[in-house]
Amino acid sequence: MLKANYHTHTKLCNHAEGMPKDYVKKAIELGFVELGMSDHGPVPHEFMSEKEYINNWIQRNMTLEEYYTIYLPALDEAIAKYGDKIKIYKGLEVEYIPGHEEYYLGLKANLDYLNFGVHYFLSEGIEKNSYDDVDYKSIYDYCDIAVNGMKTGIYNCLVHPDLFYFGYKNEEGKQVFDKHCVEVTHRICQTASELGIYLEVNCNGLANSRKYGLKNEWLYPRKEFWEIAKTYPNLKIIIGCDAHLINNLYSEDTKAIEKFCQELGLNISPFMKI
Ligand SMILES: [Zn+2]
Ligand SMILES: [Zn+2]
Repeated sequence: MLKANYHTHTKLCNHAEGMPKDYVKKAIELGFVELGMSDHGPVPHEFMSEKEYINNWIQRNMTLEEYYTIYLPALDEAIAKYGDKIKIYKGLEVEYIPGHEEYYLGLKANLDYLNFGVHYFLSEGIEKNSYDDVDYKSIYDYCDIAVNGMKTGIYNCLVHPDLFYFGYKNEEGKQVFDKHCVEVTHRICQTASELGIYLEVNCNGLANSRKYGLKNEWLYPRKEFWEIAKTYPNLKIIIGCDAHLINNLYSEDTKAIEKFCQELGLNISPFMKI
């Protein structure tokens, strides 16, 4: 059973519940040894077009002001109160938008680690969201952002690395894990393995797959991706709850992911070295 989780959100992102102390209390109850808080970090308006910002971002992240005046103090409060019962790490989940490395480093200056989620990228100059329909050209753009982001050295873990498959459609408009997906998987695993960056098997992919009407199929975590990942002996892999609800810290979905990893024979790191 899980003893740690490093992917935990709060109500500050506007699509999750609870504050750090609520997750910390639950984690202690569950017997966790470590808990990393990693809510969606602030995204400056000017990092993208007005349209993209308003459609996909304005309501899904904390603001910079909330980061400093609410999030960081709430983390310190949780550590002061429960730090003797559980190791609490301070983190955020952020994008990589090239040219803004200093900004991410500035956020990280107050934290222990950064989770890297690729939700936003450009493809042929067009802004894409990882939940949009993407074709074989776009997934290479997702891949470039993932690989180049990891190379900056700013991030500790690439969360849901297989998210590129979520809206993937091949030339015939079908969703199949084809040679392009295989190539993207290799590039991501190769880079993560060389740089010692963790890749995360994401538990929230199950709920997200159900949201899109799939009962028994998971869009992510994707078996084909992790079968390839398994062939990289030095690759560090962890399970992440991506908890948006307090009960997500250990749920039926978490159990299903633990079983998935066990059946695949993935070598899961119980803790993230931070
Ligand atoms: Zn979220
Ligand atoms: Zn997340």
